[in-house]
Amino acid sequence: MTPYDPSLPARMRVVEVGPRDGLQNLSAPVPTAAKIALIDRLSPLGFDRIEAVAFVSPRAVPQMADAAAVMAGIRRHPAARYVALVPNRMGTARSLDAGVDMLNFVCSATESFNQANLNQSIDASLAALAESMPLAQAAGVPMRLTLSTSFGCPYEGYVDPARVLDIARRAADLGCDEICLGDTTGMANPRQVYHLFERLIATLPDVTPAVHLHNTRGSGAANLIAALQAGVTVFDSSLGGLGGCPYAPGATGNVASEDMVHMLHEMDVETGVDLHGLIKVARDFERTLGQTLPGQVMRAGEAYAFSCRLPHAAKVGS
Ligand code: ZN
Repeated sequence: MTPYDPSLPARMRVVEVGPRDGLQNLSAPVPTAAKIALIDRLSPLGFDRIEAVAFVSPRAVPQMADAAAVMAGIRRHPAARYVALVPNRMGTARSLDAGVDMLNFVCSATESFNQANLNQSIDASLAALAESMPLAQAAGVPMRLTLSTSFGCPYEGYVDPARVLDIARRAADLGCDEICLGDTTGMANPRQVYHLFERLIATLPDVTPAVHLHNTRGSGAANLIAALQAGVTVFDSSLGGLGGCPYAPGATGNVASEDMVHMLHEMDVETGVDLHGLIKVARDFERTLGQTLPGQVMRAGEAYAFSCRLPHAAKVGS
């Protein structure tokens, strides 16, 4: 049998965003100690990065009001890198004071969503990025841009790729070395994901492309594979599929970290993530929250957990 698509990369890097994107959307406050405990358990699991906090307005996002205390309270694992999401210069300055290893600047691809989420125009967000960049560069901290609603917007519908590429180019010109396209409300489809990343990579070959997917309409895993086949090697996900967005009507969680890691490992795409450990953390955190998470592997277990794991060729060839 011909092997399945040989263009699959050997490795994908996983950014665990549960402590930020996941918790941000919960209406019930999560105690600072529980956030710290969660990050401390995620730290040794082999993620490329952990998006631990957001330095944003505490009025707009009360769940992130304790970001500085969370960053001060975690036990930094030598192999882990900790990221903060920021929308402006003040957030950048506070993140650098807190000692983050990387910044994730957020802006939307549509004016309506940027107004709803950040209360400013896209131009104002890019001006804020321009003001923030010198601080990051002086501290030697890399800056990623995440462009939310890159595929579809709950207010404006389908998003023109030219608009996404224009904002991405402006962010790259300002010094962003990684550009993440976000499907904030799960409106993307795999063909669209493939073609938009194909164009992003052709337009900005020196920038690392990354993808941030929500599984709102069940297309998350398919969209991830489409991104991977287009050349993306960094993706965001959250344990148990925790998450959403307070400003996106109907938005649900990110793709579940364990589900994506499980799928990739089964395809012999390595992630470096300890899947057994991650499943355990997701199950325990579900109990901590007292609410059911949408992740599926955390419920079903690993496909080959109770039998010998066969070599890849044997599995697909039978
Ligand atoms: Zn998100």
